[in-house]
Amino acid sequence: MKRKYSGEIGKNDNGKEVVVKGWIHEMRDLGGLRFLIIRDREGKVQVTAPRKKVTKEVFELIKGLSRESVVEISGVVKEEPKAPGGFEIIPDKIKVLSRASSPLLLEVTEKVPAELDTRLDSRFLDLRRPRIQAIFRIRHQVQKAVRDFLERNGFIEINTPKIVATATEGGAALFPISYFEKEAFLNQSPQLYKQMMMAAGFERVYEIGPIFRAEEHNTTRHLNEATSIDIEMSFANHEDVMKILEKMVVHVYRQVEQHCERYLEWLGITLEIPDAPFPRITYEEAIEIASKEEEIEWGDDLTTKSERIIGETIGEHYFIVDWPTEIKPYYTMPYENKPDLCKAFDLMHPKLELASGAQRIHDVQLLEKRIADQGLSPENFEFYLTAFRYGIPPHAGWGLGCERLVMTMLDLNNIREAVLFPRDRQRLTP
Ligand code: ATP
Ligand code: MG
Repeated sequence: MKRKYSGEIGKNDNGKEVVVKGWIHEMRDLGGLRFLIIRDREGKVQVTAPRKKVTKEVFELIKGLSRESVVEISGVVKEEPKAPGGFEIIPDKIKVLSRASSPLLLEVTEKVPAELDTRLDSRFLDLRRPRIQAIFRIRHQVQKAVRDFLERNGFIEINTPKIVATATEGGAALFPISYFEKEAFLNQSPQLYKQMMMAAGFERVYEIGPIFRAEEHNTTRHLNEATSIDIEMSFANHEDVMKILEKMVVHVYRQVEQHCERYLEWLGITLEIPDAPFPRITYEEAIEIASKEEEIEWGDDLTTKSERIIGETIGEHYFIVDWPTEIKPYYTMPYENKPDLCKAFDLMHPKLELASGAQRIHDVQLLEKRIADQGLSPENFEFYLTAFRYGIPPHAGWGLGCERLVMTMLDLNNIREAVLFPRDRQRLTP
């Protein structure tokens, strides 16, 4: 007999024999009547065992079960308006596939609230909670929608190395590792490699992969290992890739709305789909807004507080454009007529930054100069610079934090909620 998921049991099964497999979510004993709630990945189904209608063997076996054990149950479906889903199963056979120890490390039913730390310590149990599982079903849909969208727009997926010899942008945000006789690092971003793929002639590439940042401070928006959605595109400027980005974000929201109705319901949220095009404000305007409530001036990077103030003022997704060249990475293209400003942008959710991007410098002399201006040694970047000496098109791209996209979409208050096994200053296991 074929196994049915809880969500598949319906009118057609009434009076018929089915097999369900899953975890014992709840057990209740009313003397002559014993109930089990079986949870599988699609939802829950009730198993009802009246003493008079099931075998003595089955009735006794139920008594000895433990919550969260994995079972296989066959029985006859009966319509029951009071049961979850409107049907119950009267069991004729119960097989225990794996017995769960008790007490449980974490209450899966959510009857007892648990701190995030406790939940992450027993993440496999935490993930059994439908509400938590929903986040990762949706995250899957987000990545699928990204791939679909980019592929339809002519991008191919690439994979670049995560063990590297040089920091992408220099600085302290790096994890050194020992690599045989040499020192190496975990890559902060696929930036240099995806640009080299423009020299290779692919024209449109994307990568969904890990980035490593040695952020020292514990915040609710930073991880030490995050997932970045990166694109790079040739014969394009910053405006072109901003359009791709905003269209992609809207597409992702729509796909989630369309395919994840049930999971949104488990989470108890309704999606608000953003409207493209997103408003664009200049860095100068952003500073002006923030300076009403904060000590900040032209040339400063935006603080968390200023991001919040500006976000409240704009109230929807928006871009910040025309940044001071000096506070953006060396590979960012300055405006020809006003080189103090550059063709960089940040995509913002009202609550935080989602993505950074820019048109890149493709003139190798200028690139060398910018590297040196920022106090870095061009010799360390020779593997990168050489790709600019034999013909490279003008190009642009961006990097979008996958966890931040999921976090803002689902209104999660901590980025750790959007990763299976977060890595932060305190947490290296599980
Ligand atoms: P922030 O200023 O918020 O720390 P950033 O400007 O340093 O971010 P970028 O180098 O621009 O980050 O990286 C591009 C995107 O990657 C960011 O907009 C963000 O969505 C994501 N990202 C970067 N660092 C992290 C991190 N430590 N944890 C989670 N996501 C990150
Ligand atoms: Mg940024």
